[in-house]
Amino acid sequence: MSETKTRVPAVPGLFTLEPEVALVGSRCSDCGSYFFPREQVVCRNPRCRSSHLEACELSRAGKLWSFTSSAYKPPPPFVAPEPFEPFALAAVELEREKLVVLGQVVRGVLPEALRVGMPMQLTSEVLEESDSQVLMVWKWAPSGAASIEAKR
Ligand SMILES: [Zn+2]
Repeated sequence: MSETKTRVPAVPGLFTLEPEVALVGSRCSDCGSYFFPREQVVCRNPRCRSSHLEACELSRAGKLWSFTSSAYKPPPPFVAPEPFEPFALAAVELEREKLVVLGQVVRGVLPEALRVGMPMQLTSEVLEESDSQVLMVWKWAPSGAASIEAKR
């Protein structure tokens, strides 16, 4: 991969890559509820309904709340490596917000390696590369595994 290409989120606005990968959610300034993906119109807390919502970066760490295996290839616009490799899906409870956020687990970490309650962290992986840029996605990794993944 060329170091001169710009790395951009595959879905703009859902997460940032600089200075490090972070999910972009929102926080209601009246009741303190957090939302992901970002809520922009009205707070979904039925006892609040405020429209004072601010974008914020969510915790990059949490604990594994549940997980499953995806053994089939999801339909487009999902981009899967060819040949398709099964992957794990993790639901992670964010450290500070206590929101449960579903996401793919990094390549090479299958469900056999996961345990409910284990610490997880947010990381990023290359989705596809064009002539001018590298499209990135965010993923979950067991804490400590993200650095191993990045060295490959
Ligand atoms: Zn609210």
